[in-house]
Amino acid sequence: MSRSIQMVPGLLALAVAAALPAQAGVTDADLVAGNKYTSGVLSAGIGTQGQRFSPLAKVNTGNVGNLVPVWSFSFGGEKQRGQESQPVIYNGKMFVTASYSRIFAIDATTGNQLWKYEHRLPDGIMPCCDVVNRGAALYDNLVIFGTLDAHLIALNQDTGKVVWDEKLDDYKAGHSYTSAPTIAKGLVLTGISGGEFGVVGRVDARDAKTGKLVWTRPTVEGHMGFKDGKENGISGETNKTWPGDLWKQGGAATWNNFTYDPETNLVYAGTGNPAPWNSHLRPGDNLYSSSTVAINVDTGKIVWSYQSTPHDGWDFDGVNEFVNFDYVKDGKTIKAGAKADRNGFFFVNDRTNGKLLNAFPFVDKITWAKSIDLNTGRPVYVDDNRPGAPIEAAEGHKGKMVFSAPSFLGGKNQQPMAFSPDTGLFYVPANEWGMEIWNEPVGYKKGAAYLGAGFTIKTINDKYIGALRAMDPVSGKKVWEITNNAPLWGGVLATHGGLVFYGTPEGFLKAVDAKTGKELWKFQTGTGVVAPPVAWEQNGEEYIAVVSGWGGAVPLWGGDVAKKVNFLNQGGSVWVFKLFNGQNSASADSATLAASH
Ligand code: CA
Repeated sequence: MSRSIQMVPGLLALAVAAALPAQAGVTDADLVAGNKYTSGVLSAGIGTQGQRFSPLAKVNTGNVGNLVPVWSFSFGGEKQRGQESQPVIYNGKMFVTASYSRIFAIDATTGNQLWKYEHRLPDGIMPCCDVVNRGAALYDNLVIFGTLDAHLIALNQDTGKVVWDEKLDDYKAGHSYTSAPTIAKGLVLTGISGGEFGVVGRVDARDAKTGKLVWTRPTVEGHMGFKDGKENGISGETNKTWPGDLWKQGGAATWNNFTYDPETNLVYAGTGNPAPWNSHLRPGDNLYSSSTVAINVDTGKIVWSYQSTPHDGWDFDGVNEFVNFDYVKDGKTIKAGAKADRNGFFFVNDRTNGKLLNAFPFVDKITWAKSIDLNTGRPVYVDDNRPGAPIEAAEGHKGKMVFSAPSFLGGKNQQPMAFSPDTGLFYVPANEWGMEIWNEPVGYKKGAAYLGAGFTIKTINDKYIGALRAMDPVSGKKVWEITNNAPLWGGVLATHGGLVFYGTPEGFLKAVDAKTGKELWKFQTGTGVVAPPVAWEQNGEEYIAVVSGWGGAVPLWGGDVAKKVNFLNQGGSVWVFKLFNGQNSASADSATLAASH
């Protein structure tokens, strides 16, 4: 090593420059630069705006056929299950979370493990929908991730030592944490999972360096917010959109990734279903369930909210990511945000004030509403297709069963879409499926499922469930689609190279032409992909990575669909790819060695 350094002083300088970051740690400025920061991937969503777009073009439509694996890393362990994590990459290190609240630091060039942290989980954790985690956040020299027993943990990026560990809430009441935290202005912003157990959703802001709580904002109307340990106003107006006492266990869990826009200074959090599922118990809109809630990062107060499913009765969580993007209309730049909702509609809102700008279906079959009225911003319901109230005289007191599409697993679920500013299109990993759903009597009991409903997921057609769709947010038109036999449950990456990358439960990572949807490359990872790919640049080359490991909500709750995909094998690994340049990295190392002797 030392001899080779003496022989090539120019290379040494380069190596030192590459090894030492320009600054001591990840800063707010780095995070706000978002996808322009190409020498790593600093946050979930590839930038706080959540576009999942990489401006890199070294891998492009002309050469993507030459993409080859560089390394693969196994999470190991006896327990595998669903791997929904997006890696983050900084200073040559990849940080990736895995099932059962594990996190690994890996050398991004070699794939060698640097350290790992396995959180000790108590018996009795209650994740509703598999033991997943969607990724970590980076700030300063910390890597921060949440656990299934509802802790938030910050580790030193270099050593893996725990710097702080904060309890978010009581796992015995059904709280857990599965999403990737968001960083804004030195605050780490988190939500909470547990809507199926009647927890109350909220957004918490903590000092990212110390973990100290700064503010908390409940997402169920009637609950008090706090800032610096003092009362900071009730969310909404008690009992305005909720009758009686049900708001006290009102759900609206904030369980998926948020986005943050530095220009509006708002964090956009999606909220889940109102609890319980049986809507007849809670007349009213039940704010702020099944909504996008925009909160001022400084004040911890709600600036606007938009409810995609008022008075939800189908478990149409509104948690899907609200992606910030701009478009030009009549010569004016519109600051917008878009969400492909579980309920089957694609919503475009003004991200400064929440005003609905456009709404259109992105799935073929929607039974619960005819359309979204752009004037009122509200759905035009099909009243007959709401599951009925429980019937006293019926067997099991079951109410009228209805067939509903989409199913509660959603036209889209946690798998994040991508937006390309080059094409102006959103790439939506959609699913076509329905459910039979009925209501039953229910009462709240701490730590017990709080649904008041039963269901069976149904396929709609034999040919496919998944469909990757290129959607125009302005015209509402579907530009192209690629159908997929199994439901799509991984996310999407779009690049300036004119490519769209996505994974399938059948195990493939695929690259397609962003303009046409033509498949240009695919690679079998050995187990289902239910996580979103990333791209970054190191050593002058563009790298693509994706986590592979079948699982998530589908095999647990999928009914007929689960039977259709039960042949898929579990696993848990990271795959990293780059263009084949005539020599793989191992032979490149030997060449360097040979030159040095
Ligand atoms: Ca839910």
